[in-house]
Amino acid sequence: MKYISTRGGIDPISFKQAVMMGLATDGGLLLPQIMPLIDSTTVSSWRRMSYTELAHAVFSLFVDDIPAKDLQQLIERSYSTFNHPEITPLVQKDKVYILELFHGPTLAFKDVALQFLGNVFEYLLQESGEKMNILGATSGDTGSAAIYGVRGKERINIFIIHPYKRVSAVQELQMTTVTDANVFNIAIRGTFDDGQAIVKNLFNNIAFKQQYHLGAVNSINWARILAQVVYYVYAALKLTENGGMVDFSVPTGNFGDIFAGFVARKLLPDQIRNLVLATNENDLLTRFVLKGDYSLGKVVQTSSPSMDIQVASNFERYLYFLYDENAARTRDAMLEFGKTGKLHFSAVEQERIRTAFLSESVSQDQTISRIRSFYKENGYVLDPHTAVGVDAALRKLDSPTPMVCLATAHPAKFSGAVEEAIGHPPEIPESFRDLDKKESRCRVLDADVKQIKEFIEKNAL
Ligand SMILES: *Cc1c(COP(=O)(O)O)cnc(C)c1O
Repeated sequence: MKYISTRGGIDPISFKQAVMMGLATDGGLLLPQIMPLIDSTTVSSWRRMSYTELAHAVFSLFVDDIPAKDLQQLIERSYSTFNHPEITPLVQKDKVYILELFHGPTLAFKDVALQFLGNVFEYLLQESGEKMNILGATSGDTGSAAIYGVRGKERINIFIIHPYKRVSAVQELQMTTVTDANVFNIAIRGTFDDGQAIVKNLFNNIAFKQQYHLGAVNSINWARILAQVVYYVYAALKLTENGGMVDFSVPTGNFGDIFAGFVARKLLPDQIRNLVLATNENDLLTRFVLKGDYSLGKVVQTSSPSMDIQVASNFERYLYFLYDENAARTRDAMLEFGKTGKLHFSAVEQERIRTAFLSESVSQDQTISRIRSFYKENGYVLDPHTAVGVDAALRKLDSPTPMVCLATAHPAKFSGAVEEAIGHPPEIPESFRDLDKKESRCRVLDADVKQIKEFIEKNAL
């Protein structure tokens, strides 16, 4: 399988090259050159597989430059850190199924992809003899998942910038209590946006980027999408053993997770039917689906902060398919969007978008009352991100087709909002209980490119 850019500006590359490239060098996003077709015999054989066996089968369609045995080991190692034997268990609650994606080390779904990405990076660097310094800014969730993905790995150091005292106490501790020698937490006296601007500035410094082999772990890496395709396939096959189809509801921010669902549906068009794109009050993507209006707004803070996003970084991947895989058109559209902050779609395109996705925007109040009512009716505590997806799902139910709601975080990660909804904090899992007693390490710096740059130069591999 070869990979191409949504903007058409690179020669086809292999999976390994795609992982190391991250963002395509022409500014586009990498995609497989063709989507594999799955025959019904293969589907039947997949139904009998465990999660990791299925992961291997799905990855093998897209990865042909890592030997099967090595790929199997990478997968096993990546999911051995999960605390549930099924990795992503499916539980039925009243009218919907909840696909619990939060059994990894940081209790959010990003572990599914970042555990794998960390291991693949280590494997590829071992092979090439190179090293990498990962640099990223976080508002809370991605940082800890990335740190847990590469802690203790050879040939990799990681520098994660978070806004000092502006992430939740648990989020801060999740990051700063990882004291492996290759992990560097930087708290800046500033905001998340300041942190992102600094990271961008350093990545744009080509000499610096090359000298220190800067690497990124953001959600545009194809390996992350690929890892996420697996749980859609896993859940869809479980619920269609006797025929029929399934729907999925996905709380969405960067369009990464829902794009993985889009790929899964291309693999299993006879099993996966609707994809419900659920947003919080940052409803750019809902406006896009319902009205063909893709225009930047202002970011509103909500109780589901990992979806408080305006520019959906993976959106371009869907755009490429909307434009019938026409890279020149995709490039022109993205350049226009860069200039105007807006994209327009024809009536025919709007119809296609509405065929591809259903969508709902869920308000702050609706989110909290959904956590409350779901708890009352089912005794099950949703985190606010999951609650956005569940609320949207319940508005789109169309039985007898089962509806699978992706549970993207454990409620204990967002206990403030949960307590507001149900009157008491959620149960705290074992791994969270004594976080504040652990040793922690973090460097506090000004929100100043020069200071951060010097800190990296001093500690980089
Ligand atoms: C990142 C995140 C999301 C949004 O996922 P995208 O791939 O950005 O759409 C939803 N919920 C939680 C808990 C997250 O951490």
